[in-house]
Amino acid sequence: MSEVNLLETPIKFLKGVGPKKAILLSSELNINVFEDLLNYFPFRYIDRSKFFKVSEINSDSIFYQLKGRISRMESFGKGRGQRLTAVFSDETGSIQLVWFQGIKWIIEKIKTNKEYIIYGKPNNYRGRYTINHPEIEEIDNEIDFEKYLYPVYHTGDKLSISGLNSRGISQLLINLLQSISKVIPENLSQKILSDNNFLARKDAFVYIHFPPNNELLEKSKKRLIFEELFFIQLGVIKLRLHRNLKSQGHIFKNVGKYFNDFYSKYLPFELTNAQKKVIKEIRSDMGKPHQMNRLLQGDVGSGKTLVALLCMLIAADNSYQSALMAPTEILAIQHYNSITKMLAGMDINVAILTGSSTTAQRKIIHKNLLDGTLQIIIGTHALIEDVVKFNNLGFVVIDEQHRFGVAQRAKLWTKNVIPPDVLVMTATPIPRTMAMTLYGDLDYSVIDELPMGRKPIITLHFTEAYRLRVFKFMKEIIDKGHQVYIVYPLIEESETLDLKNLMEGYEAISRSFPLPKYKLGIVHGKMEPKNKDFEMQNFAHGITNILISTTVIEVGVDVPNASLMIIENANRFGLSQLHQLRGRVGRGDEQSYCILMSEGRLSNEAKTRLETMVETSDGFRIADIDLKLRGPGDLQGTQQSGLLDLKIADIINDEKIVKHARATANNLLEDDPNLEKKENFIIKNYLLMHKTTSFDWGKIS
Ligand code: ADP
Ligand code: MG
Repeated sequence: MSEVNLLETPIKFLKGVGPKKAILLSSELNINVFEDLLNYFPFRYIDRSKFFKVSEINSDSIFYQLKGRISRMESFGKGRGQRLTAVFSDETGSIQLVWFQGIKWIIEKIKTNKEYIIYGKPNNYRGRYTINHPEIEEIDNEIDFEKYLYPVYHTGDKLSISGLNSRGISQLLINLLQSISKVIPENLSQKILSDNNFLARKDAFVYIHFPPNNELLEKSKKRLIFEELFFIQLGVIKLRLHRNLKSQGHIFKNVGKYFNDFYSKYLPFELTNAQKKVIKEIRSDMGKPHQMNRLLQGDVGSGKTLVALLCMLIAADNSYQSALMAPTEILAIQHYNSITKMLAGMDINVAILTGSSTTAQRKIIHKNLLDGTLQIIIGTHALIEDVVKFNNLGFVVIDEQHRFGVAQRAKLWTKNVIPPDVLVMTATPIPRTMAMTLYGDLDYSVIDELPMGRKPIITLHFTEAYRLRVFKFMKEIIDKGHQVYIVYPLIEESETLDLKNLMEGYEAISRSFPLPKYKLGIVHGKMEPKNKDFEMQNFAHGITNILISTTVIEVGVDVPNASLMIIENANRFGLSQLHQLRGRVGRGDEQSYCILMSEGRLSNEAKTRLETMVETSDGFRIADIDLKLRGPGDLQGTQQSGLLDLKIADIINDEKIVKHARATANNLLEDDPNLEKKENFIIKNYLLMHKTTSFDWGKIS
């Protein structure tokens, strides 16, 4: 106990910190107690035994560590165009250093004629190497470099000015480890430690900050990454076991008339094998007496809606009501239209409830839901309002789940005494290991196949110079009877400017595509819902040829006759968003195209995004690249989960450890579900002290 309390000591009590630095550490790095500092890991290490000479630089793909002096600092230009150069020399030659940012600070910090260690990746600029924004360290004679790989920590200008540069932070860690390293408590059982040949926890913390050699560094990393992932897995697996064991669910025993009639008479096409497979998985889960919580993942256009509909028919066969909740009104309307069309010949009641339903409509719907007349309700957030009460809600589908908060989802569960079975659908492809971590408590089905006959979408990237050719191509598409989407970015921070762009784009296109031959529509988020819907319907029914819009059409919109998607300022969109937008075409039999428009000058990252889009349409590959570009913390919807606030593990690169941690957690809970065995006390104790996982371990005694 006392050890744990020690780790929770406020950081201001650490030798070398004090109240002022404590405030900075808290505001800049979120370090509040000893344990936070312990978990503030170096992002790289300097091996002081390996230096290069300037004359040895011959590649722009590796990092170099050099020792030498800096001279001839000169700054050019003003404002955003400002640039600082300096010459770095050792006894073998010299190389230019360049800065575009933080120039004032560099000028103040660097002393000429003093020896520095610099670290960076050279650029090959017209046959000459330069290093942009190198890391710079003063040579410190007090630290015994021979002995340690020297840790480097991220800090910022504010911290550095107060003495908390990387070296300052490593000094704090020395102070901390000197006082507490002996008492950092273990949290893995003897069995797990010996099975994996793991370092003791206290040693792992010492070595990750001050590794005596590479081997111990790797060992300490491995142990700490495992530990982090293992405790997450224990939480999510426990949550799922607990729910399967404890929570009652409805049993959908029968596959009856609704399902069979639809399947034999009204199903508009043969199901894909992947659709058949997931329906089987869901059906078997629905038949069990616990509450289903299942994630259905399938790339855009893979046919998730139909799967959802078939499951809702099974619910109806068992006299239960179903609800389908979509994140936007456009989507809800579309689901409603396509579902009522498919069910047209059948005797089943379906209604739609959204924010723009009139009071009179609501009244009827509320009544019919309560008395059980309505079997399927489709809608938006309006469905979760307290006034909406069901007769016997048994099955809930949540479309594009990443658009909903956890709390909103949970609200639908409370609409029946026994919670309904839940199917959450997402087209945002997340890598398997990420799903294991983020949705590890859910069961998982995936549609990994598109309906037959879909031709891969051809994706091209053009700059403004090709505008006329793009217009010509649009005309060809429209002449063939097909339709075109043009999407403009609308980012909240620059909303007014973006709306102006959209309007100007609309006018420019109206001039090149005049009435009566061409008809244009426009939709954006600022329009009245009923006008938006009017425009969407016009496009869906082929009345308009070109739909100019913002990303309101990003998810789910389904107009198979549209075969060309043009994305303006494509460089401003994220990869997964581009993938979602592109998924609006390629839904019919016709060859479809996606044209990415951008200016010529692009950042490396934007270039990678656009190149990726041109090269592949594999949602999982795109998700992987997206994750690498942005880091997992940025992935849509993951911030709010709080689960992926990882300190040391990396979901993509540590894939093997994710799997191993999950298997280990599984085995452990199989053997000792409530962690009651003496040998597992150490694990349970840690869980009770750290409420970091999704399962409340205090609930079981
Ligand atoms: P998403 O998974 O993106 O939600 P949808 O459910 O909107 O995909 O389906 C995309 C399109 O494919 C729709 O037009 C739908 O009618 C059609 N579709 C679904 N399943 C099949 C199938 N088995 N064969 C042919 N077309 C299908
Ligand atoms: Mg969909």
